[in-house]
Amino acid sequence: MSAYKIIDHIYDVVVVGAGGSGLRATMGAAEKGLKTACVTKVFPTRSHTVAAQGGIAASLGNMGPDHWTWHMYDTVKGSDWLGDQDAIEYLCREAPAAVYELEHAGMPFSRTEDGEIYQRAFGGMTQNMGEGPAAQRTCAAADRTGHAMLHTLYQQSLKYDADFFIEYFALDLIMEDGECRGLIAMCLDDGSIHRFRAQAVVLATGGYGRTYFSATSAHTCTGDGNAMVLRAGLPLQDMEFVQFHPTGIYGAGVLITEGARGEGGYLTNKDGERFMERYAPSAKDLASRDVVSRSMAMEMREGRGVGEEGDHIFLHLDHIAPEILAERLPGITETAKIFAGVDMTKEPIPVTPTVHYNMGGIPTNYHGEVVTLKDGDPDAVVPGLFAVGEAACVSVHGANRLGSNSLIDLVVFGRATGHRLAEVVKPGAAQANLKDDAADLALARLDHFRNADGGSPTAEIRLDMQKTMQSNCAVFRTEEILAEGVDKLNKAYARMQDVSVADRGLVWNSDLIETLELDNLLGQAKATMELAANRKESRGAHMHEDYPDRDDANWMKHSLIWVNGWGGKDGSTKIDYRPVHDFTLTDDVSYIEPKKRVY
Ligand SMILES: Cc1cc2nc3c(=O)[nH]c(=O)nc-3n(C[C@H](O)[C@H](O)[C@H](O)COP(=O)(O)OP(=O)(O)OC[C@H]3O[C@@H](n4cnc5c(N)ncnc54)[C@H](O)[C@@H]3O)c2cc1C
Repeated sequence: MSAYKIIDHIYDVVVVGAGGSGLRATMGAAEKGLKTACVTKVFPTRSHTVAAQGGIAASLGNMGPDHWTWHMYDTVKGSDWLGDQDAIEYLCREAPAAVYELEHAGMPFSRTEDGEIYQRAFGGMTQNMGEGPAAQRTCAAADRTGHAMLHTLYQQSLKYDADFFIEYFALDLIMEDGECRGLIAMCLDDGSIHRFRAQAVVLATGGYGRTYFSATSAHTCTGDGNAMVLRAGLPLQDMEFVQFHPTGIYGAGVLITEGARGEGGYLTNKDGERFMERYAPSAKDLASRDVVSRSMAMEMREGRGVGEEGDHIFLHLDHIAPEILAERLPGITETAKIFAGVDMTKEPIPVTPTVHYNMGGIPTNYHGEVVTLKDGDPDAVVPGLFAVGEAACVSVHGANRLGSNSLIDLVVFGRATGHRLAEVVKPGAAQANLKDDAADLALARLDHFRNADGGSPTAEIRLDMQKTMQSNCAVFRTEEILAEGVDKLNKAYARMQDVSVADRGLVWNSDLIETLELDNLLGQAKATMELAANRKESRGAHMHEDYPDRDDANWMKHSLIWVNGWGGKDGSTKIDYRPVHDFTLTDDVSYIEPKKRVY
């Protein structure tokens, strides 16, 4: 593989990703005096976090009574009891401090009359341990919260002594004897190969929404870190749980924040009926996302959808005063005009459930350390490897994430990872030399695709995969549809052996990068489909019509899946399980017993 020029670097810590979680972890590590690099394929402020609209959850109680235990209760219930309660306790307890930290770092939150951080209602967020009424818990900067947060974090990160490798594409981890020793990346600009030796690598590479045809996530959300973990022979967790957001703009897939319903927006069918009152009599339009998405799908299925094809639903904001919309929802007012062609102060917006978030990912504990099942130990830490943000599965979101709980997850666990790194990494400690073949996997794969001369263009295979995921692994699932999905996806996966890449160069070769990303997506699509076919119950976002009930006796457990091979070869999988943590972190709160989830 000597055809490639390799440039060596030594760091204590390498973070991959500069979204909210990656930047917070980078700051955390650098602050503790660790020599830190942050490698990112897009410019930091272009990470998908920038697109987050609605807000960030924390029980500040600025707009009414609130308590972190109430937030914890809602998160456990939202997760349909698949979340780990120790991690959820950590998230909800630490949330207020994490939001104040952002405030003090200069994040321009919207304000109340009294100058406090403005908080809005969001789905599934309630007072009094689920008894109600709704809690206003979601802190917002109008409807551009992610934008405000990411810019704040990036500006802050510049004050620390961390090195940014911007527009570098991470190819693979360097693993030796079950430990992570570093990372191989390619500089997109000139094709040079960079080998990072490190005591720890933190994967903060975001979600893999682009396995589906219609998604609110950016085209760069290809789960590259998850795929690197699979190629390292480690499992991914709970991949069958994919969140559909109720209100993606029909046709375009662009998001209309849940904050729109938090500010009083509501959904109607073709008869003008506010149908959510039938499905969720108390929370109505602010039931959790899986519940609202399924209700919409049911309305459309039963012939009450809007439009000629009956394939969408209306979201109304036209009853809200235009001044309020201009102040609190300026971004989506613009989005509705551009992508749906409607003036939402006067007409409803056509919306449909759209892929939005991946609850599953790289299994970690609440310190951000990657864990795996090893010699019967379900919590065995993989030395040197960490994961945070949407790439990780801590798991705080379980089978269904509540809106505004991701942004808080990014900063709380990004910070926790920094703390842990300071404990396990010694600044400047000597690192053993890498073996001669340390870059071989990454370079063999790169070289393979760069010279791929089959008959199938990348875009065709991608479409094949995306259409299969969209039709066979959606909001409602059955044995038959999933079995067909597994079969169709296996074909799309194998088709990767016939991929063609036209550009053989190394300078800004987008054809090659998209192909590497597609190869990454295919492994995750397989993991998602096969785990969905495997889970014979309904829980959170996984609605299996042949098994419509939650089955705690047999299925209250995390799924693990290993997917072998890349480039369309092998593709064999192995499935196993980890127990859900049925304990809390401290005695300040007791274990929240499972019950039926109704809103
Ligand atoms: C439209 C939209 C609106 C949302 N609104 C909200 C909201 O209001 N509230 C909320 O809580 N959540 C919201 N979410 C969810 C939340 O925004 C995301 O889950 C979260 O921002 C993900 O952050 P992250 O740090 O994990 O990764 P991202 O922000 O996705 O960043 C990923 C980073 O990894 C880097 N990367 C990836 N692959 C590679 C590679 N191979 N090599 C090098 N670098 C790589 C990228 O360059 C990027 O910097 C929203 C999501 C979307 C899509």
